[in-house]
Amino acid sequence: MGESKKCTKCGEVKPLTSFHKNNSRDGRNSKCALCYNTAKNKAYSERPEMRERIMSRTSGDVLVRIDNKKKSNKNKSKIRASYYSNTEKKKASRATRSFYRQEGYELHHWSYKDEHLKDIISIPIEVHRILHTNLIYDKELLCYRTKAGELLDTKEKHIEFIGFLTNYLKVVIGAVLDM
Ligand SMILES: [Zn+2]
Ligand SMILES: [Zn+2]
Repeated sequence: MGESKKCTKCGEVKPLTSFHKNNSRDGRNSKCALCYNTAKNKAYSERPEMRERIMSRTSGDVLVRIDNKKKSNKNKSKIRASYYSNTEKKKASRATRSFYRQEGYELHHWSYKDEHLKDIISIPIEVHRILHTNLIYDKELLCYRTKAGELLDTKEKHIEFIGFLTNYLKVVIGAVLDM
């Protein structure tokens, strides 16, 4: 898995690839990408155009989804069935079966290419649910797009979008998320 370091914000020990590159001594930020993006997005949220920017990126669907949360719980088994009918997703789930899961967190695949099957992102369950309602899977490219059509074909882009959504939840809905 290579080198890892401890995030100065959340205190988690994560692989170096979970930290953005910079000009510091070890070449990486002291905060992990999730913490860094959350902080960055918080700064954005103080600006009035934030809501508009969020709306354009999510098609404003997140709010509707939250309202329908109870309903969507009913559909969960349906969603699960469709998820596992997909070969590469089955393979990915097998590849990470033995991985450690932090309490309240789930493992998320940002890509289903063979070389990325074990390259997962650990995110709070609540964020994970909402994340998937805002992603469209591209079967050809084996990764996701946002509803606005933006291709999230690198882990960095994917993590940035997660930070963005997390911020959306905080700003627009006022949800308190422990991240
Ligand atoms: Zn962190
Ligand atoms: Zn996921």
